[in-house]
Order: sequence, then C-alpha cells, then structure tokens
Amino acid sequence: MIQINDKQFELFLTKEQIQDKVSKVAARLNDDYADKSVLVIVILNGSFMFASDLIKQLKFDNEVSFVKLQSYNDFSSLGNVLELIGLNTDVEGKDVVVIDDIVDTGITINSMLHKLHKKNVGSVNVCSLLFKPDAFKGDEVPKYVGFSIPNKFVVGYGMDYNQKGRSLTEIYKLKD
Ligand code: 5GP
Repeated sequence: MIQINDKQFELFLTKEQIQDKVSKVAARLNDDYADKSVLVIVILNGSFMFASDLIKQLKFDNEVSFVKLQSYNDFSSLGNVLELIGLNTDVEGKDVVVIDDIVDTGITINSMLHKLHKKNVGSVNVCSLLFKPDAFKGDEVPKYVGFSIPNKFVVGYGMDYNQKGRSLTEIYKLKD
C-alpha cells in the first residue's frame, strides 16, 4: 500500500502484467498496420510511459506527435476539453493511432476524434492502456485496450493523483 497526499492506494497491476500487456498490444498493432505508414498521436500527460514502452516495439513506419488535453480535475471529469498543446501535424488522409492512458467517460478521446474527423483523417483507431467500461459514455469503444478495469481511480505508470505518482512503475488503485 502507498500514500499519496491524503489518499491510500493499493497495488493493482504489477510491472510484469503491464509490460506483458504492452507487448501484446504492440503485436496487435504490428499485425494490423504492417506495411502502413502511421501517424501516432500521444495524448499527454498521463500516457507518456505507456506510449514510450509501446512505441519502442512498433515495427511499422511511423511518425509520432503529441497533444496535451485537459478534461480532468481530481476525481471528476469536467466535461469540456481544453487543448493545452495542439496538433501541429497535417492529418489529412493519414492512418492515425491515438495513444491514451485511460479512457474513462470517453469525453477526452471523443473530442480528439471529432477534431481528427473534421481535418479529414484517413483512418483513426484508439489505443488505450486502460478502459473503464462502466464509466464510458461514448459510442465507440477503443479498438486496442490493454486492461478493462472497474470504475476506480488509479495512479502510477504515468498517471497522477494531483500530479503525484506518475513515476511509479506499477499501477495502484484507490483503496476502498
Ligand atoms: P475521460 O475524458 O475519458 O473521462 O477521461 C480521460 C482522462 O482522464 C484520462 O486521459 C486521464 O488523464 C484522466 N483519468 C480518468 N480516469 C482516471 C483515473 O482513474 N486515474 C487518473 N490518474 N486519471 C484518470
């Protein structure tokens, strides 16, 4: 168990479980995008560790770009998405994979997908390490999901609680 600020968190996914899953997701992407040239868009901040481990295992031709979105405060989604660092790459006609740490309500990823469709993206799929089906309000479930998890707040492996806990190599969940 660990303490971050006022909250206690318990171990949820070990380093080995995470790394094993990252390799499996990378293998699926390598199968599906073999011989393609892909624009990989990483949604900061929470997915930096997942993206780093995943991208190192990609075998197809790729470009990597970053966007910084914000839709979250403490434990509740705000419902509107702020673009803190925008996309500076042309996406028209391109095959895009969007990498996210966690799809919760789906508001953040939906807003990203909406922008990409408006810019006439060729194709787009979402790759998220974690997915909370019980919280999801969107219409399209991410195609590549590492773990579907219960509707509990998690930290570690890039994900924060009030900016803390990102450097943990395991994922912890809020203790009941
Ligand atoms: P959504 O827009 O899907 O509700 O939320 C997506 C974003 O909220 C994620 O990219 C992540 O930054 C943040 N988020 C959602 N659930 C959690 C969680 O359990 N822990 C942490 N640390 N961030 C979360």
